[in-house]
Amino acid sequence: MTKDQTFVIVGASLAGAKAAETLRAEGFAGRVVLIGAESERPYERPPLSKDYLRGEVGREKVYVHDESFYGENEIELVLGRTAVNLDPSVGEVTLDDGGRVRYDRLLLATGAEPRRLQIPGDALDGVLYLREVADSDALRGRLDRGGSVVVIGAGWIGAEVAASARQRGLDVTLVDPVGVPLERVLGAEVGAVYGDIHADHGVRMLMGTGVAAFEGSAAVERVRTSDGRTLDCDFVVVGVGVRPRTQLATQAGLHVDDGVVADEHLQTSAPGVFVAGDVALAHHPFYGRRVRVEHWANALHQGPVAARNMLGRQDAYDNLPYFFSDQYDVGMEYAGLASASDRVVFRGDPASREFIAFWLLEDRVVAGMNVGVWDVTDAIQRLIRRRVAVDDRRLADPGVPLEDLTLAAPGARHGQQEDS
Ligand SMILES: Cc1cc2nc3c(=O)[nH]c(=O)nc-3n(C[C@H](O)[C@H](O)[C@H](O)COP(=O)(O)OP(=O)(O)OC[C@H]3O[C@@H](n4cnc5c(N)ncnc54)[C@H](O)[C@@H]3O)c2cc1C
Repeated sequence: MTKDQTFVIVGASLAGAKAAETLRAEGFAGRVVLIGAESERPYERPPLSKDYLRGEVGREKVYVHDESFYGENEIELVLGRTAVNLDPSVGEVTLDDGGRVRYDRLLLATGAEPRRLQIPGDALDGVLYLREVADSDALRGRLDRGGSVVVIGAGWIGAEVAASARQRGLDVTLVDPVGVPLERVLGAEVGAVYGDIHADHGVRMLMGTGVAAFEGSAAVERVRTSDGRTLDCDFVVVGVGVRPRTQLATQAGLHVDDGVVADEHLQTSAPGVFVAGDVALAHHPFYGRRVRVEHWANALHQGPVAARNMLGRQDAYDNLPYFFSDQYDVGMEYAGLASASDRVVFRGDPASREFIAFWLLEDRVVAGMNVGVWDVTDAIQRLIRRRVAVDDRRLADPGVPLEDLTLAAPGARHGQQEDS
Protein backbone atom coordinates (compact mmCIF):
# COMPACT_ATOMS: atom_id res chain seq x y z
CA MET A 1 0.00 0.00 0.00
CA THR A 2 1.42 3.34 -0.98
CA LYS A 3 1.16 6.72 0.63
CA ASP A 4 -0.92 7.90 -2.33
CA GLN A 5 -3.87 5.69 -1.56
CA THR A 6 -7.10 6.89 0.04
CA PHE A 7 -9.24 4.65 2.22
CA VAL A 8 -12.71 6.02 2.93
CA ILE A 9 -15.00 4.87 5.72
CA VAL A 10 -18.67 5.85 5.55
CA GLY A 11 -20.24 5.78 9.01
CA ALA A 12 -18.37 7.35 11.93
CA SER A 13 -19.54 5.17 14.79
CA LEU A 14 -18.03 2.17 16.55
CA ALA A 15 -17.31 -0.04 13.52
CA GLY A 16 -15.99 2.86 11.45
CA ALA A 17 -13.82 4.32 14.21
CA LYS A 18 -12.30 0.95 15.10
CA ALA A 19 -11.55 0.34 11.42
CA ALA A 20 -9.80 3.71 11.13
CA GLU A 21 -7.78 2.97 14.27
CA THR A 22 -6.77 -0.43 12.85
CA LEU A 23 -5.65 0.99 9.50
CA ARG A 24 -3.16 3.19 11.31
CA ALA A 25 -2.17 0.48 13.79
CA GLU A 26 -1.38 -1.79 10.83
CA GLY A 27 0.87 0.88 9.36
CA PHE A 28 -1.29 2.22 6.53
CA ALA A 29 0.35 5.50 5.54
CA GLY A 30 -2.18 6.82 3.02
CA ARG A 31 -5.22 9.06 3.56
CA VAL A 32 -7.92 7.81 5.92
CA VAL A 33 -11.23 9.67 5.61
CA LEU A 34 -13.96 8.89 8.15
CA ILE A 35 -17.33 10.34 7.13
CA GLY A 36 -20.22 10.60 9.56
CA ALA A 37 -23.73 12.00 9.24
CA GLU A 38 -23.87 12.88 12.95
CA SER A 39 -22.14 15.96 14.29
CA GLU A 40 -20.55 14.04 17.19
CA ARG A 41 -17.27 12.22 16.87
CA PRO A 42 -17.69 8.41 17.12
CA TYR A 43 -19.34 7.25 20.33
CA GLU A 44 -20.72 4.06 21.80
CA ARG A 45 -24.47 3.60 22.02
CA PRO A 46 -24.96 1.10 24.90
CA PRO A 47 -24.75 3.80 27.63
CA LEU A 48 -27.52 5.78 25.88
CA SER A 49 -30.20 3.54 27.40
CA LYS A 50 -28.32 2.90 30.65
CA ASP A 51 -26.05 5.05 32.84
CA TYR A 52 -25.72 7.94 30.38
CA LEU A 53 -29.51 8.13 30.02
CA ARG A 54 -29.91 8.19 33.79
CA GLY A 55 -27.36 10.99 34.08
CA GLU A 56 -24.85 8.86 35.99
CA VAL A 57 -22.00 9.36 33.53
CA GLY A 58 -21.18 12.32 31.32
CA ARG A 59 -20.66 12.68 27.59
CA GLU A 60 -16.88 12.12 27.85
CA LYS A 61 -17.53 8.48 28.86
CA VAL A 62 -19.26 7.49 25.65
CA TYR A 63 -16.70 8.44 23.02
CA VAL A 64 -14.74 5.72 21.23
CA HIS A 65 -11.55 7.86 21.21
CA ASP A 66 -10.28 11.06 22.75
CA GLU A 67 -10.79 14.10 20.58
CA SER A 68 -7.04 14.35 19.93
CA PHE A 69 -6.86 10.79 18.59
CA TYR A 70 -8.05 11.69 15.09
CA GLY A 71 -5.59 14.53 14.56
CA GLU A 72 -2.72 12.59 16.08
CA ASN A 73 -3.39 9.69 13.73
CA GLU A 74 -4.08 11.85 10.69
CA ILE A 75 -7.60 10.50 10.35
CA GLU A 76 -9.69 13.06 8.48
CA LEU A 77 -12.95 13.18 10.39
CA VAL A 78 -15.73 14.63 8.23
CA LEU A 79 -18.71 15.07 10.55
CA GLY A 80 -22.24 16.27 9.84
CA ARG A 81 -21.96 15.06 6.25
CA THR A 82 -23.95 12.26 4.66
CA ALA A 83 -22.61 10.22 1.77
CA VAL A 84 -25.45 10.38 -0.76
CA ASN A 85 -23.93 8.63 -3.73
CA LEU A 86 -21.45 5.82 -4.23
CA ASP A 87 -19.98 4.94 -7.60
CA PRO A 88 -17.83 1.81 -7.32
CA SER A 89 -17.01 1.88 -11.05
CA VAL A 90 -14.86 4.97 -10.57
CA GLY A 91 -14.24 4.66 -6.81
CA GLU A 92 -15.96 7.82 -5.66
CA VAL A 93 -18.31 8.91 -2.91
CA THR A 94 -20.41 12.06 -3.14
CA LEU A 95 -21.42 13.94 -0.02
CA ASP A 96 -24.61 15.92 0.64
CA ASP A 97 -22.75 19.22 0.17
CA GLY A 98 -21.69 18.13 -3.31
CA GLY A 99 -18.14 17.28 -2.24
CA ARG A 100 -16.58 14.22 -3.84
CA VAL A 101 -14.05 11.88 -2.30
CA ARG A 102 -12.13 9.42 -4.43
CA TYR A 103 -11.21 6.15 -2.79
CA ASP A 104 -9.00 3.13 -3.39
CA ARG A 105 -10.82 1.07 -0.74
CA LEU A 106 -14.14 1.83 0.92
CA LEU A 107 -15.72 0.58 4.13
CA LEU A 108 -19.48 0.85 4.60
CA ALA A 109 -20.22 1.12 8.32
CA THR A 110 -23.58 2.83 8.04
CA GLY A 111 -25.20 0.90 10.88
CA ALA A 112 -28.92 0.73 11.49
CA GLU A 113 -31.81 3.04 12.25
CA PRO A 114 -34.95 2.60 14.33
CA ARG A 115 -38.05 1.22 12.69
CA ARG A 116 -40.73 3.89 12.89
CA LEU A 117 -44.34 3.20 13.80
CA GLN A 118 -46.76 4.49 11.21
CA ILE A 119 -50.01 4.87 13.10
CA PRO A 120 -52.36 7.78 13.81
CA GLY A 121 -50.63 10.37 16.01
CA ASP A 122 -47.12 9.19 15.16
CA ALA A 123 -45.92 12.77 14.54
CA LEU A 124 -47.11 14.13 17.91
CA ASP A 125 -44.56 15.77 20.14
CA GLY A 126 -43.41 13.42 22.90
CA VAL A 127 -43.26 10.29 20.73
CA LEU A 128 -39.56 9.50 21.10
CA TYR A 129 -37.09 7.05 19.56
CA LEU A 130 -33.62 6.21 20.82
CA ARG A 131 -30.58 5.74 18.59
CA GLU A 132 -28.36 8.80 18.81
CA VAL A 133 -26.85 10.68 21.72
CA ALA A 134 -29.20 13.60 21.00
CA ASP A 135 -32.16 11.19 21.40
CA SER A 136 -30.76 10.09 24.75
CA ASP A 137 -30.32 13.73 25.83
CA ALA A 138 -33.93 14.49 24.88
CA LEU A 139 -35.15 11.43 26.74
CA ARG A 140 -33.05 12.29 29.78
CA GLY A 141 -34.75 15.70 29.84
CA ARG A 142 -38.11 13.91 30.02
CA LEU A 143 -36.88 11.60 32.79
CA ASP A 144 -35.77 14.66 34.73
CA ARG A 145 -39.33 16.00 34.60
CA GLY A 146 -40.81 12.73 35.90
CA GLY A 147 -44.38 11.63 35.26
CA SER A 148 -45.48 8.62 33.29
CA VAL A 149 -44.10 6.99 30.17
CA VAL A 150 -45.46 4.28 27.90
CA VAL A 151 -42.69 2.21 26.35
CA ILE A 152 -43.73 0.53 23.12
CA GLY A 153 -41.75 -2.63 22.43
CA ALA A 154 -40.32 -5.00 25.05
CA GLY A 155 -37.10 -5.83 23.22
CA TRP A 156 -33.65 -4.83 24.53
CA ILE A 157 -34.02 -1.08 24.01
CA GLY A 158 -37.57 -0.97 25.41
CA ALA A 159 -36.65 -3.13 28.41
CA GLU A 160 -33.55 -1.04 29.21
CA VAL A 161 -35.43 2.26 28.84
CA ALA A 162 -38.22 0.91 31.06
CA ALA A 163 -35.63 -0.04 33.69
CA SER A 164 -33.86 3.34 33.53
CA ALA A 165 -37.18 5.21 33.74
CA ARG A 166 -38.22 3.19 36.79
CA GLN A 167 -34.82 3.82 38.35
CA ARG A 168 -35.50 7.54 37.87
CA GLY A 169 -38.88 7.13 39.57
CA LEU A 170 -41.29 7.41 36.64
CA ASP A 171 -44.48 5.40 36.20
CA VAL A 172 -43.71 2.97 33.38
CA THR A 173 -46.05 0.92 31.22
CA LEU A 174 -44.47 -1.55 28.79
CA VAL A 175 -46.62 -2.59 25.81
CA ASP A 176 -45.86 -5.40 23.36
CA PRO A 177 -47.90 -7.97 21.42
CA VAL A 178 -45.69 -10.81 22.73
CA GLY A 179 -46.47 -12.57 26.00
CA VAL A 180 -43.36 -11.60 28.02
CA PRO A 181 -40.50 -9.08 27.58
CA LEU A 182 -37.68 -10.19 25.26
CA GLU A 183 -39.69 -13.17 24.09
CA ARG A 184 -38.61 -12.80 20.46
CA VAL A 185 -34.94 -13.32 21.37
CA LEU A 186 -35.05 -15.38 24.53
CA GLY A 187 -38.28 -17.32 24.15
CA ALA A 188 -41.20 -17.41 26.58
CA GLU A 189 -39.46 -19.31 29.38
CA VAL A 190 -36.41 -17.05 29.78
CA GLY A 191 -38.36 -13.92 28.83
CA ALA A 192 -40.63 -14.65 31.80
CA VAL A 193 -37.61 -14.20 34.10
CA TYR A 194 -37.24 -10.67 32.76
CA GLY A 195 -41.00 -10.17 33.08
CA ASP A 196 -40.67 -10.95 36.80
CA ILE A 197 -37.70 -8.60 37.18
CA HIS A 198 -39.64 -5.70 35.67
CA ALA A 199 -42.77 -6.54 37.66
CA ASP A 200 -40.71 -6.57 40.87
CA HIS A 201 -39.52 -3.07 40.02
CA GLY A 202 -43.04 -1.80 39.49
CA VAL A 203 -43.29 -1.76 35.69
CA ARG A 204 -46.86 -2.22 34.53
CA MET A 205 -46.77 -4.73 31.71
CA LEU A 206 -49.41 -4.84 29.02
CA MET A 207 -48.31 -7.83 27.04
CA GLY A 208 -50.29 -9.42 24.26
CA THR A 209 -51.43 -6.16 22.73
CA GLY A 210 -50.15 -3.74 20.13
CA VAL A 211 -50.59 -0.01 19.72
CA ALA A 212 -53.37 1.44 17.56
CA ALA A 213 -52.80 5.20 17.95
CA PHE A 214 -51.19 8.03 19.84
CA GLU A 215 -53.67 10.71 20.90
CA GLY A 216 -53.32 14.29 22.10
CA SER A 217 -53.77 17.83 20.81
CA ALA A 218 -50.18 18.89 20.09
CA ALA A 219 -48.25 16.46 22.25
CA VAL A 220 -49.03 12.86 23.00
CA GLU A 221 -51.36 12.51 26.00
CA ARG A 222 -52.63 8.96 25.56
CA VAL A 223 -51.78 5.70 23.88
CA ARG A 224 -54.64 3.64 22.47
CA THR A 225 -53.83 -0.05 22.41
CA SER A 226 -55.10 -2.43 19.76
CA ASP A 227 -57.26 -4.17 22.35
CA GLY A 228 -59.07 -0.91 23.01
CA ARG A 229 -57.44 0.40 26.19
CA THR A 230 -56.28 3.98 26.64
CA LEU A 231 -53.12 4.71 28.62
CA ASP A 232 -52.57 8.27 29.83
CA CYS A 233 -48.95 9.35 29.66
CA ASP A 234 -46.58 12.31 29.54
CA PHE A 235 -44.50 10.80 26.72
CA VAL A 236 -43.86 7.64 24.77
CA VAL A 237 -40.67 5.79 23.83
CA VAL A 238 -40.84 3.49 20.83
CA GLY A 239 -38.33 0.62 20.57
CA VAL A 240 -39.63 -1.73 17.91
CA GLY A 241 -36.35 -2.77 16.31
CA VAL A 242 -33.97 -1.37 13.75
CA ARG A 243 -33.39 -1.72 10.04
CA PRO A 244 -29.95 -1.73 8.40
CA ARG A 245 -29.02 1.46 6.58
CA THR A 246 -28.52 -0.03 3.13
CA GLN A 247 -29.66 2.88 0.92
CA LEU A 248 -26.18 3.86 -0.26
CA ALA A 249 -25.26 0.27 -1.10
CA THR A 250 -28.56 -0.35 -2.89
CA GLN A 251 -28.18 2.81 -4.96
CA ALA A 252 -24.62 1.73 -5.87
CA GLY A 253 -25.90 -1.60 -7.15
CA LEU A 254 -24.29 -3.74 -4.45
CA HIS A 255 -25.86 -7.05 -3.46
CA VAL A 256 -28.23 -6.14 -0.64
CA ASP A 257 -30.69 -8.27 1.26
CA ASP A 258 -31.47 -7.71 4.94
CA GLY A 259 -28.13 -5.89 5.09
CA VAL A 260 -25.19 -5.41 2.73
CA VAL A 261 -24.21 -8.89 1.62
CA ALA A 262 -20.57 -9.86 2.09
CA ASP A 263 -18.35 -12.93 2.19
CA GLU A 264 -16.52 -14.05 5.34
CA HIS A 265 -13.79 -11.48 4.57
CA LEU A 266 -16.43 -8.73 4.77
CA GLN A 267 -15.88 -8.02 1.08
CA THR A 268 -19.10 -6.91 -0.65
CA SER A 269 -20.14 -7.67 -4.22
CA ALA A 270 -18.24 -4.55 -5.40
CA PRO A 271 -14.45 -4.93 -5.61
CA GLY A 272 -12.65 -2.84 -3.01
CA VAL A 273 -15.82 -2.17 -1.00
CA PHE A 274 -16.07 -3.76 2.46
CA VAL A 275 -18.76 -3.69 5.14
CA ALA A 276 -18.82 -3.98 8.96
CA GLY A 277 -21.15 -3.58 11.91
CA ASP A 278 -24.95 -3.54 12.13
CA VAL A 279 -25.33 -3.11 8.37
CA ALA A 280 -23.24 -6.18 7.41
CA LEU A 281 -24.93 -9.40 6.33
CA ALA A 282 -21.79 -11.48 6.08
CA HIS A 283 -21.19 -15.16 5.48
CA HIS A 284 -20.31 -16.71 8.84
CA PRO A 285 -17.95 -19.68 8.57
CA PHE A 286 -19.16 -21.29 11.81
CA TYR A 287 -22.83 -21.15 10.83
CA GLY A 288 -22.27 -21.74 7.13
CA ARG A 289 -24.72 -19.00 6.23
CA ARG A 290 -25.06 -15.24 6.26
CA VAL A 291 -25.58 -13.60 9.62
CA ARG A 292 -26.33 -9.98 10.52
CA VAL A 293 -25.69 -8.99 14.12
CA GLU A 294 -26.99 -5.78 15.71
CA HIS A 295 -24.69 -5.69 18.71
CA TRP A 296 -21.81 -3.69 20.09
CA ALA A 297 -19.21 -6.48 20.09
CA ASN A 298 -19.85 -7.22 16.44
CA ALA A 299 -19.17 -3.58 15.45
CA LEU A 300 -16.13 -3.52 17.74
CA HIS A 301 -14.51 -6.60 16.18
CA GLN A 302 -15.75 -6.51 12.59
CA GLY A 303 -14.38 -3.00 11.96
CA PRO A 304 -10.76 -4.12 12.56
CA VAL A 305 -11.16 -7.30 10.49
CA ALA A 306 -12.58 -5.28 7.59
CA ALA A 307 -9.69 -2.79 7.92
CA ARG A 308 -7.07 -5.55 7.74
CA ASN A 309 -8.75 -7.01 4.67
CA MET A 310 -8.82 -3.56 3.06
CA LEU A 311 -5.04 -3.75 3.45
CA GLY A 312 -4.93 -7.02 1.55
CA ARG A 313 -5.28 -9.62 4.28
CA GLN A 314 -7.83 -12.42 3.96
CA ASP A 315 -9.02 -12.70 7.56
CA ALA A 316 -12.36 -14.40 8.06
CA TYR A 317 -14.73 -12.91 10.64
CA ASP A 318 -16.03 -15.82 12.68
CA ASN A 319 -16.65 -14.43 16.18
CA LEU A 320 -19.78 -15.86 17.71
CA PRO A 321 -22.55 -13.29 18.20
CA TYR A 322 -22.25 -11.81 21.69
CA PHE A 323 -24.11 -9.09 23.53
CA PHE A 324 -24.81 -7.79 26.99
CA SER A 325 -27.58 -5.93 28.74
CA ASP A 326 -27.99 -4.25 32.11
CA GLN A 327 -31.41 -3.74 33.64
CA TYR A 328 -31.63 -2.50 37.26
CA ASP A 329 -28.96 -4.48 39.11
CA VAL A 330 -29.27 -7.45 36.76
CA GLY A 331 -26.45 -7.82 34.22
CA MET A 332 -26.24 -10.48 31.55
CA GLU A 333 -24.17 -11.67 28.62
CA TYR A 334 -25.48 -13.78 25.75
CA ALA A 335 -23.37 -15.69 23.26
CA GLY A 336 -24.37 -17.75 20.26
CA LEU A 337 -27.38 -17.85 18.04
CA ALA A 338 -30.55 -19.61 19.11
CA SER A 339 -34.09 -19.57 17.94
CA ALA A 340 -36.57 -18.46 20.60
CA SER A 341 -38.21 -21.87 20.27
CA ASP A 342 -35.04 -23.90 21.03
CA ARG A 343 -35.06 -26.05 24.16
CA VAL A 344 -33.77 -24.35 27.34
CA VAL A 345 -31.80 -25.85 30.23
CA PHE A 346 -31.11 -23.74 33.33
CA ARG A 347 -28.00 -24.02 35.48
CA GLY A 348 -28.98 -22.35 38.75
CA ASP A 349 -32.35 -21.03 39.83
CA PRO A 350 -33.67 -18.26 37.55
CA ALA A 351 -35.56 -16.80 40.51
CA SER A 352 -32.21 -16.12 42.22
CA ARG A 353 -31.19 -14.00 39.20
CA GLU A 354 -27.84 -15.75 39.19
CA PHE A 355 -28.03 -18.47 36.59
CA ILE A 356 -27.03 -19.59 33.12
CA ALA A 357 -29.63 -20.44 30.49
CA PHE A 358 -28.53 -22.70 27.65
CA TRP A 359 -30.42 -23.11 24.40
CA LEU A 360 -30.07 -26.51 22.79
CA LEU A 361 -30.73 -27.85 19.35
CA GLU A 362 -31.13 -31.57 19.86
CA ASP A 363 -28.31 -32.20 22.40
CA ARG A 364 -25.96 -29.42 21.36
CA VAL A 365 -25.65 -26.04 23.03
CA VAL A 366 -26.24 -23.28 20.46
CA ALA A 367 -26.43 -20.30 22.82
CA GLY A 368 -25.90 -19.45 26.45
CA MET A 369 -26.86 -16.50 28.61
CA ASN A 370 -25.19 -15.87 31.95
CA VAL A 371 -27.18 -13.65 34.29
CA GLY A 372 -25.42 -12.38 37.41
CA VAL A 373 -22.70 -15.03 36.86
CA TRP A 374 -19.42 -13.78 35.47
CA ASP A 375 -16.28 -14.97 33.67
CA VAL A 376 -18.08 -17.84 31.94
CA THR A 377 -18.72 -16.49 28.45
CA ASP A 378 -15.45 -17.93 27.07
CA ALA A 379 -16.37 -21.38 28.36
CA ILE A 380 -19.90 -21.04 26.97
CA GLN A 381 -18.51 -20.02 23.60
CA ARG A 382 -16.15 -23.02 23.57
CA LEU A 383 -19.10 -25.26 24.33
CA ILE A 384 -21.01 -23.84 21.38
CA ARG A 385 -18.02 -24.12 19.07
CA ARG A 386 -17.25 -27.71 20.00
CA ARG A 387 -20.74 -28.83 18.93
CA VAL A 388 -20.58 -31.87 21.18
CA ALA A 389 -23.67 -33.51 22.56
CA VAL A 390 -24.15 -32.70 26.24
CA ASP A 391 -26.13 -34.37 28.92
CA ASP A 392 -28.91 -32.15 30.33
CA ARG A 393 -28.24 -33.14 33.93
CA ARG A 394 -24.54 -32.29 33.73
CA LEU A 395 -25.34 -29.06 31.96
CA ALA A 396 -27.78 -28.09 34.70
CA ASP A 397 -25.41 -29.06 37.51
CA PRO A 398 -23.35 -26.07 38.77
CA GLY A 399 -20.94 -28.62 40.27
CA VAL A 400 -19.80 -29.75 36.81
CA PRO A 401 -17.24 -27.28 35.40
CA LEU A 402 -18.35 -25.90 32.02
CA GLU A 403 -14.92 -26.86 30.65
CA ASP A 404 -15.69 -30.53 31.38
CA LEU A 405 -18.79 -30.32 29.19
CA THR A 406 -16.71 -29.54 26.13
CA LEU A 407 -15.62 -33.16 26.31
CA ALA A 408 -18.41 -35.41 25.11
CA ALA A 409 -20.43 -36.39 28.17
CA PRO A 410 -20.60 -40.03 29.21
CA GLY A 411 -23.72 -41.51 27.70
CA ALA A 412 -24.35 -38.53 25.43
CA ARG A 413 -24.85 -39.08 21.73
CA HIS A 414 -21.68 -38.95 19.66
CA GLY A 415 -20.93 -38.37 16.02
CA GLN A 416 -21.65 -34.63 15.72
CA GLN A 417 -19.28 -32.66 13.64
CA GLU A 418 -16.75 -30.80 15.75
CA ASP A 419 -15.33 -27.41 15.03
CA SER A 420 -12.04 -27.65 16.84
C1 LIG B 1 -29.64 2.87 22.96
C2 LIG B 1 -28.84 1.70 22.50
C3 LIG B 1 -28.35 0.80 23.43
C4 LIG B 1 -27.62 -0.31 23.02
N1 LIG B 1 -27.18 -1.19 23.96
C5 LIG B 1 -26.47 -2.27 23.57
C6 LIG B 1 -26.02 -3.21 24.55
O1 LIG B 1 -26.26 -3.08 25.73
N2 LIG B 1 -25.29 -4.28 24.11
C7 LIG B 1 -25.01 -4.47 22.79
O2 LIG B 1 -24.37 -5.46 22.48
N3 LIG B 1 -25.43 -3.60 21.84
C8 LIG B 1 -26.16 -2.51 22.20
N4 LIG B 1 -26.60 -1.61 21.26
C9 LIG B 1 -26.28 -1.85 19.83
C10 LIG B 1 -24.95 -1.24 19.41
O3 LIG B 1 -24.86 0.07 19.87
C11 LIG B 1 -24.84 -1.29 17.89
O4 LIG B 1 -24.75 -2.64 17.53
C12 LIG B 1 -23.64 -0.51 17.38
O5 LIG B 1 -23.81 0.86 17.62
C13 LIG B 1 -23.43 -0.72 15.88
O6 LIG B 1 -22.37 0.08 15.46
P1 LIG B 1 -22.15 0.45 13.94
O7 LIG B 1 -20.88 1.23 13.91
O8 LIG B 1 -22.27 -0.75 13.09
O9 LIG B 1 -23.39 1.36 13.50
P2 LIG B 1 -24.11 2.60 14.14
O10 LIG B 1 -23.78 2.73 15.58
O11 LIG B 1 -25.54 2.51 13.75
O12 LIG B 1 -23.47 3.84 13.39
C14 LIG B 1 -23.57 4.06 12.03
C15 LIG B 1 -23.19 5.50 11.77
O13 LIG B 1 -23.17 5.72 10.37
C16 LIG B 1 -23.74 6.97 10.08
N5 LIG B 1 -24.23 6.94 8.70
C17 LIG B 1 -25.19 6.16 8.19
N6 LIG B 1 -25.35 6.38 6.86
C18 LIG B 1 -24.43 7.34 6.53
C19 LIG B 1 -24.09 7.99 5.32
N7 LIG B 1 -24.72 7.69 4.17
N8 LIG B 1 -23.14 8.94 5.36
C20 LIG B 1 -22.49 9.24 6.52
N9 LIG B 1 -22.77 8.63 7.70
C21 LIG B 1 -23.73 7.70 7.70
C22 LIG B 1 -24.85 7.10 11.11
O14 LIG B 1 -25.24 8.43 11.28
C23 LIG B 1 -24.18 6.51 12.34
O15 LIG B 1 -23.51 7.48 13.07
C24 LIG B 1 -27.34 -0.50 21.63
C25 LIG B 1 -27.84 0.42 20.69
C26 LIG B 1 -28.58 1.50 21.12
C27 LIG B 1 -29.14 2.47 20.10
